[in-house]
Amino acid sequence: MSSIAERITQIREKLPHTVRLIAVTKQVSVAAMREAYAAGVRDFGESRIQEAASKQAQLHDLTDVTWHMIGRLQTNKAKKALEQFQWIHSVDSLKLAQRLNQLALQMSCQPKVCLQVKLRSDPHKTGWSVSELLQDLPALNECDRLNIQGLMTIPPLGLSDLEILNLFEQTRELATNIQKQHWSNMPMHHLSMGMSDDYLLAVQAGATMVRLGRILFGARPTINNSTESESQL
Ligand SMILES: *Cc1c(COP(=O)(O)O)cnc(C)c1O
Repeated sequence: MSSIAERITQIREKLPHTVRLIAVTKQVSVAAMREAYAAGVRDFGESRIQEAASKQAQLHDLTDVTWHMIGRLQTNKAKKALEQFQWIHSVDSLKLAQRLNQLALQMSCQPKVCLQVKLRSDPHKTGWSVSELLQDLPALNECDRLNIQGLMTIPPLGLSDLEILNLFEQTRELATNIQKQHWSNMPMHHLSMGMSDDYLLAVQAGATMVRLGRILFGARPTINNSTESESQL
């Protein structure tokens, strides 16, 4: 079995330089995270507030790391999320966006966020459908403390590669359509899409950030190894 550093090197060789590699470290030890850091990783993705807090305390000497919240965020944990993370990829409702905006004003911060969309109906995922998102854009643009950087998506399970590729391409087109509307507060330059099994398809479709866990760190313990953010509560 290759080392974490070797795997990181292999993956980087497949990624264009412009694509940001986010190492998803849920259920990964801080020792393994230090290995990833030593291999050049500066972006860690976590899906639980509490787990992230504990790791951030243990890794406080790594001052140039950017922390990304990728899991489902409940409104009552929004403040903690803003304290702990520079990026929130999983903003999945107008209500959450507005709460984050209100808190960001109080806390004088300007968090970078992605809007989580689902281009196919999927009972296991939260997020905006296309029509819901288009409807909410004016209200989202009012959230002017949020730096709305782009869209995030997770394909439903059970799709073929071609279907996944189509879904990622549709996500890119949606971002482009929103860009063309020239909202003052939604640059929409980023696409957070692609996980261990589909990141090459995501890159092909224009992902700017891939979120990789198992392919870097190995399988997570089976007890809670779902990639669905809802199971991470
Ligand atoms: C767990 C998780 C990932 C990483 O998944 P892998 O299959 O381990 O690469 C990416 N994004 C989200 C939202 C996740 O919950």
